[in-house]
Amino acid sequence: MASRSRISGSVRDVISDYWRHTARYPLLVTLLILVGAAIQAAVVIAPLYLKDFIDIIATNAPSTAIEGLTTALALFALFIFIAWGLRRLQFYFIAALETRVMADLNITSFSYIIRHSYHFFVSNFVGAIVRRITRYSRSYETVADAIFFQLYPVILIAFGMVAILYLRHPALGIGLAVWIVVFSTIQIALIRRIHPYRLKAAEEDSNVTGVLSDALSNQSTATLFAGLAHEHARFETAVSRFRTAQYRSWKFDDNIWAIQGLLIAIVNVVLLFAAMRLWQQGLLSVGDFVLIQTYLLTLFERLVQAGREVRQVFSAVAEATETAEMLRIPHEVRDVPDAVPLFVKRGEIVFKDIRFGYRDGNAVLSRFDVRVAGGEKVALVGPSGAGKTTVTKLLLRLYDLDEGVIEIDGQDIGQATLESLRKSIAFVPQDPVLFHRTLLENIRYGDMGASEHEVIEAAKKAHCHEFISALPHGYETLVGERGIKLSGGERQRIAIARAILKNAPILVLDEATSSLDSESEALIQDALETLMKAKTVIVIAHRLSTVIKMDRIIVMEDGRVTAEGRHEELIKQGGKYQTLWNIQAGGFLDSEDIESEDV
Ligand code: ADP
Repeated sequence: MASRSRISGSVRDVISDYWRHTARYPLLVTLLILVGAAIQAAVVIAPLYLKDFIDIIATNAPSTAIEGLTTALALFALFIFIAWGLRRLQFYFIAALETRVMADLNITSFSYIIRHSYHFFVSNFVGAIVRRITRYSRSYETVADAIFFQLYPVILIAFGMVAILYLRHPALGIGLAVWIVVFSTIQIALIRRIHPYRLKAAEEDSNVTGVLSDALSNQSTATLFAGLAHEHARFETAVSRFRTAQYRSWKFDDNIWAIQGLLIAIVNVVLLFAAMRLWQQGLLSVGDFVLIQTYLLTLFERLVQAGREVRQVFSAVAEATETAEMLRIPHEVRDVPDAVPLFVKRGEIVFKDIRFGYRDGNAVLSRFDVRVAGGEKVALVGPSGAGKTTVTKLLLRLYDLDEGVIEIDGQDIGQATLESLRKSIAFVPQDPVLFHRTLLENIRYGDMGASEHEVIEAAKKAHCHEFISALPHGYETLVGERGIKLSGGERQRIAIARAILKNAPILVLDEATSSLDSESEALIQDALETLMKAKTVIVIAHRLSTVIKMDRIIVMEDGRVTAEGRHEELIKQGGKYQTLWNIQAGGFLDSEDIESEDV
């Protein structure tokens, strides 16, 4: 019950979102309503002249009939051409409306979803989010087409035809009206029943795609572990489930067609039989037969099409509900109502009695108290899982604190605007991911207003210029699948160039742990020294070469500070720091040996 009401709740959300976006264009909507009504009026009126035409033929000799026939034909043609002309207009208006609303929906959902928190994006597959955003606007097209081209016209046509047949003889009008009600009720009931079958088929279809891509992307593992038969069996199961679900859905579809066909045949025969009796009584003319038959054929075709469209609408709305839900999840981290811009002068950072845990409730940091003076360079070290990365995430306000305050130059970052906070901090991640854009654009992300010259200067300081200039397209080279592939060291130098360009007063650096080749290591160290000048720096340090240059080293264990001081002091003190470096020193010394050999 609960899930059912949740689903219908989100269907309402989709409809309300679509309506709000459509209502931004009242003129287009009004024009579509008017044009739609005019087209259907022409469609209902034209056959009346066809009826006259037939009646004239049936009751006159050829010599006397010509004038009347010409008039009837001319009027019949006039209405047909009016409908044709209006349809062109309708297409024009609908294209204008749908393309605008679809663009708006894309922008609305993108700008809301991209403001979701870091947590949201680590908990959802980006591919799935992308699919949902695009489906959201595509579904609108299906829904709007169905309403303007099918549902609205079919309702008007049905009313018009019932009214005119009623005028010819009440029995015909009432008969048709009753039939339409029965037909539509059965149709809607069937569509509601087929919907779960279609959802199931769609779900199994996605599952087949999932199994397929999982198996193919792990093809080498499957081969090496002699798992091909296992993968085959998994895929076979997925395909067979999809086949069964699709078969059930199609079988149901077939039942719908069968019932529709039967109802159509019955009403056709019954109405013609009734017309025959009325004709016998002299109440109907031959032309009336043509009128009834034309109406019925038009109406049947429209009803069948409308039914098909309604089924599409159900699927489209079901797909859009996931996005509508996503648009209703509140943003986890956002500006407080009276947020003020952060003003950084010295760059002093104070963590005051911080308590923080991720969703699962366990405190990752508790009673974390650290003060970093303006311009001080601090290394965070400690075993994996100690909470070092968490400290930097909290400083960047990717998460809000459970308890305590973080202050920069005496200002609570929780009260500052997120934009000003993030403008004040340059962050170089451990494994930078670059945009699939040119290298120039990637570096310029640090300062969108920077000139090309400034970008190149930053690249030179970060030691990127050498390898970028060696590329055939230089700074215009696209990064990513179709461009070049950069090594880890190169990507980190691009991220450093970006940070140099950003020139923020505070620098947060997550040092790369992956072993960089010795040349990259030396170049990166040099680039980092340039970057760190005259800034407050917090580094999650993994390398001895970084640590020994720092003003202070903070040793973290289980979310607490267990020791702090300069390298030599800490080594003298012994304890965790010494253990850590004794374990790791071997690796560092090795890499330094290699470096000196290279030189
Ligand atoms: P470090 O950087 O010192 O290796 P982290 O700050 O990354 O440590 O992690 C501290 C603890 O928080 C670890 O136990 C880790 O499993 C947990 N943790 C980190 N990120 C998340 C997350 N997004 N959700 C839940 N737990 C997390």
